Amino acid sequence: MARKNQHPKAAARGRKAADGKPRAGREVVAKAKPAAKAPPKRAPAPAPPPAPKVKFRGRVLENEPLARYTTYRIGGPARYLVLPADADDVIKALDLAQGRGLPWFVLGLGSNLLVKDTGFPGVVIRCGKGLDRFEMKGATAIVGAGLPTPLLARRTAEAGFAGVERFIGVPGTVGGGVYMNAGCHGAEFAEVVTEVTVMDAKGKVKQLPRKQISYKYRSSNLGTVIVLEAKLALIEEPPAKLKELQGKLLRWRKAGTPFDQPCCGSVFRNPGGPRTAGALIDEAGLKGFTIGGAQVSSLHANYIVNTGTATANDVLKLIEHVRKTVAKKMGVELELEVKVVG
Ligand SMILES: Cc1cc2nc3c(=O)[nH]c(=O)nc-3n(C[C@H](O)[C@H](O)[C@H](O)COP(=O)(O)OP(=O)(O)OC[C@H]3O[C@@H](n4cnc5c(N)ncnc54)[C@H](O)[C@@H]3O)c2cc1C
Repeated sequence: MARKNQHPKAAARGRKAADGKPRAGREVVAKAKPAAKAPPKRAPAPAPPPAPKVKFRGRVLENEPLARYTTYRIGGPARYLVLPADADDVIKALDLAQGRGLPWFVLGLGSNLLVKDTGFPGVVIRCGKGLDRFEMKGATAIVGAGLPTPLLARRTAEAGFAGVERFIGVPGTVGGGVYMNAGCHGAEFAEVVTEVTVMDAKGKVKQLPRKQISYKYRSSNLGTVIVLEAKLALIEEPPAKLKELQGKLLRWRKAGTPFDQPCCGSVFRNPGGPRTAGALIDEAGLKGFTIGGAQVSSLHANYIVNTGTATANDVLKLIEHVRKTVAKKMGVELELEVKVVG
């Protein structure tokens, strides 16, 4: 979704401080660009009126390290990070980007992202609190993009509805899940979504019925939009049964994946043949292979974990090494599932 007109100077301003640590972000009230100065004339020109302030109900942070907002705990600063309190703030964020000629990007819980060390030289719009509505109308869940998916799974199960209970261990937002068609254990968002409310790049909001959305494995045709809300069709099921299943699935995840280490879930897409990406990487002998602070997990080979000091560069180098080794030893070209930003 990031636009290509990125501003190199903005990126340079946001780099790390001399001590190597990311600079703390600064909270700002975004101002419209001041008008260019008129050339001096004989009589001094009157002072230009102060730049009008754009007031957000939520927060706007400048040069904010994105490592704080990704499950990898990796990522350089965003020129602006907007934490919208409502949909109007999202429009203002788009205006801010447009007014300054900056690219923009939507962030959920950053659980499927690798943000480069140089950060993102534009406006990052993070859908979270404020956009996290949860309402049940009969068997339909109406949910905001900012609602964490595990919370969606838990609340619907407690209310006695099935359909998203298996997403209990997917650590993203509903917006990211609906956009990317997240799924696991034989279920995916595509099966339950009936309508998605989106905002386009001009701030126009529209409702898309399911039949206008085409979903594939971990992708959709939603394009350059911000998902604001979704309606999900669920079916009644006893809460105790759903809770028991969720307990089992969480235990499975904790035992079989590096659930407690900073990571982004599966790095590569399953190639569609008889063997998963994880099995191919394992058979290529790469479990535990390390570059800098990035390591192929010894629990699950399709996870690359941050052992504490990894930079995005370490992860990118390791991704390249894994890709080349699997192609050479196993004859399969792996494709990235994680999205690289910046
Ligand atoms: C430990 C772990 C386990 C995981 N297990 C699974 C799994 O089993 N199945 C699975 O599918 N995934 C899994 N993931 C990956 C990830 O959790 C999902 O892809 C999740 O749906 C991403 O949501 P997010 O809010 O974190 O999106 P982000 O990572 O923030 O963004 C991902 C993409 O979605 C876009 N996006 C996010 N929010 C919006 C929005 N509101 N509107 C428009 N676009 C948006 C972003 O621009 C970006 O392109 C796992 C990740 C981790 C760390």
